[in-house]
Amino acid sequence: MAERPFNDISYEQFLNEEKLMGSRCKKCGTLFVPPRSICVKCYAAEMEWVEVEGKGKLAAFTCISVGPPFMIAEGYDRNVLMFPEL
Ligand SMILES: [Zn+2]
Repeated sequence: MAERPFNDISYEQFLNEEKLMGSRCKKCGTLFVPPRSICVKCYAAEMEWVEVEGKGKLAAFTCISVGPPFMIAEGYDRNVLMFPEL
């Protein structure tokens, strides 16, 4: 497919093109999403881009809140619930 480096910049470029892409190790077939340039299973560096489609299950997510200093000074810091319905 595309000849882009296997890194987070390429991953984000694909997302902007509405494609969810991962890298697959050509040696052992392990799939990585987000992509890796080196396989952590067999340590091969020969990867190929693979478009990931279909349904999936969200395993985890993170929400990070860091306020700018002027808002923290006004009382909007991480100790204030911004979304009480969550
Ligand atoms: Zn591998």
